[in-house]
Amino acid sequence: MFFFYGSLNMIVTMRKGADRNEINNVMQRAKSLGLEVQVNLGTDITVLALLGSNTGQLSTELFAILPGVDSVTRIMKPYKLAAREFKRDNTVISVDQVEIGKKRIVVMAGPCAVESREQLFEAARVVKEAGATILRGGAFKPRTSPFSFQGLQQAGLELLSEVRTHFSMPVITEVVDPHDVSLVVQHADILQVGSRNMQNYPLLTNLGKIKTPVVLKRGFSNSVTEWLTAADYLLAGANSNVILCERGIRTFEDSIRFSLDISAIPVIKRSCHLPIIVDPSHAAGHHDLVPALAKAAIAAGADGLLIEVHPNPKEALVDGLQSLDPFEFVQLMKELQLIAKSIGREI
Ligand code: PEP
Ligand code: MN
Repeated sequence: MFFFYGSLNMIVTMRKGADRNEINNVMQRAKSLGLEVQVNLGTDITVLALLGSNTGQLSTELFAILPGVDSVTRIMKPYKLAAREFKRDNTVISVDQVEIGKKRIVVMAGPCAVESREQLFEAARVVKEAGATILRGGAFKPRTSPFSFQGLQQAGLELLSEVRTHFSMPVITEVVDPHDVSLVVQHADILQVGSRNMQNYPLLTNLGKIKTPVVLKRGFSNSVTEWLTAADYLLAGANSNVILCERGIRTFEDSIRFSLDISAIPVIKRSCHLPIIVDPSHAAGHHDLVPALAKAAIAAGADGLLIEVHPNPKEALVDGLQSLDPFEFVQLMKELQLIAKSIGREI
């Protein structure tokens, strides 16, 4: 017999105006049955997710009869907390003054890897002047070959700290090792989980214990369902600040580094409440292709972009071919403004 471990969970939607006692009552009942409870206190409707491996055997009526309960449904999807059924309103994530998931499209830009103080400062100056609000830069690089540049690591993190203070600009950087979360979090405003680590569950579990926003990149061989289920690892902890990032998937097509899955944007918007950004650089693999993918992503409803920009791409230690130079980035930002305006958004 098939047993869907942990997949039969319930969503309890309270009536409009249900009071705190009624909500507590549902929580206590669920806990007494050995279930985990996650509460989404919406502006007018509260929704509770009852999670546990045995809810399949429990009748929804156990909760439907409680005072203040409007409806009880089972979520059959593998992901629960990332699902729209749990939270109808879009999640908006604040990073300093920047809000991700609202009308304004957020552009995160900078080099693939932090290489030197001069390189990072020049990149920050260029992207800030062109209108990017968050600086990217990898200190720990997950490289396919052990002989490739692995990043400046701790020294790179210190440069990111310096530059964020100097330019008053939040920074995003990748964390690859679950044991490094406490170190990286001291130097960055957003932590990036790379494509190769989307299913690194110890890493996700540790990132679920903090509140710092996380950009969760889609694994290049993972489905949307697997991606949202990975997001549940973060949401199941204390971290509700999750931003999804589509960066291209591996297909039979070899004319581009990865196939950018534009359709993932409306699919995510329909089934999930989290903001989604797009990284056109790693999909493109070539700077000439980046602008078209970036514009398509915004037109399709992405909440932001993560773009590689290098002051001098020809000298980049990593991903130089796909990095925009300052001139190309300024030009792209101008074009993106027109696209954003045409769909009622701004940059
Ligand atoms: C990166 O952003 O530099 C990176 C390594 O991306 P990905 O994990 O998408 O390959
Ligand atoms: Mn890169």
